[in-house]
Amino acid sequence: MAFLTAELGADFGVVLSASHNPMPDNGIKLFAAGGHKLPDEVEDRIESLVTTSFDEWVRPTGAAIGRVSDLADGAARYVRHLIGATPRPLGGLRVVVDCANGAASTVAADAYRGAGAEVTLIHAEPDGININDNCGSTHLEAVRAAVVNDGIEGVVLTHSHADHSEGAGLLGAPVVLPNDGDEVGPFRVVGTPGHSPDSVCLLMGRVCFTGDTVLGQGSVFIAPGEGSLSAYLDSLRRLRALDLEVLCPGHGPCVWDPAAKLDEYISHRLERERKLLEALASGARSENELLDAAWSDVPDHLRGAAALTLAAHLEKLAEEGRLPEDHQHDNDEH
Ligand SMILES: [Zn+2]
Repeated sequence: MAFLTAELGADFGVVLSASHNPMPDNGIKLFAAGGHKLPDEVEDRIESLVTTSFDEWVRPTGAAIGRVSDLADGAARYVRHLIGATPRPLGGLRVVVDCANGAASTVAADAYRGAGAEVTLIHAEPDGININDNCGSTHLEAVRAAVVNDGIEGVVLTHSHADHSEGAGLLGAPVVLPNDGDEVGPFRVVGTPGHSPDSVCLLMGRVCFTGDTVLGQGSVFIAPGEGSLSAYLDSLRRLRALDLEVLCPGHGPCVWDPAAKLDEYISHRLERERKLLEALASGARSENELLDAAWSDVPDHLRGAAALTLAAHLEKLAEEGRLPEDHQHDNDEH
């Protein structure tokens, strides 16, 4: 629905959605123009309208109500879009898809086969009430059995954060978190610590699976303490030196101009560092002063995240011995 809302230039999109829940918990999900999430305040206003009495609604009548029509090729358009978004044909891959008796039941086979994979569908017989009923993302037994029977060789992780690793062991195939220089399955492994100490990128020819080291959208979070900004910048430069065709991030769309994206990432961090050094040189010391000087473009609700990023930058400067004397002294005391 998000895709079609954008594709058709619709004012907004509405979908009945179960997420991972069974049918009685179905909800209504709205998309803004362009297929994006609605701003919270608009969502709140719609919610309060829905809960007011019908009598208070200003409602169109007669022909002003509009007309209903079916979009007969909606699913086909979506499948074409999915196949087009696949960076490489999937020939040689065998894939098991648990459709959870939901919307994917009608498109998953066409999408995967269209992209060249051999696909086994399970739970692809929706009857209107059996969505997520003992299947789907909260019931992995069936997909595990199908995977084991089909002989999936293993799962390769890019790092150990739960949103990337938690479900892997449940598939019943061996799980590997490889190290720099390893060859594992079809991948050559490049160590890229920074986002986390154990982050790696996986190379398959000129295709690079980046985990959380490079994202399709937005910038990567480096937690002070756990992550390391100086290691992260070295890792970005390491990737930049490779001849890559496409980056496949753990979140967000594929990046088709790897060099430009990596240059942008590196210069963004260095620009922050330049502003921070400038602020330190002019005497700013407190967190608030430093945020005002170097993160003034960040909206209020992201200031907490900016403060953590500031801490990661200060850690890097401290490692490199580039903090002013009195600041380092401050840190030692606390
Ligand atoms: Zn992560």
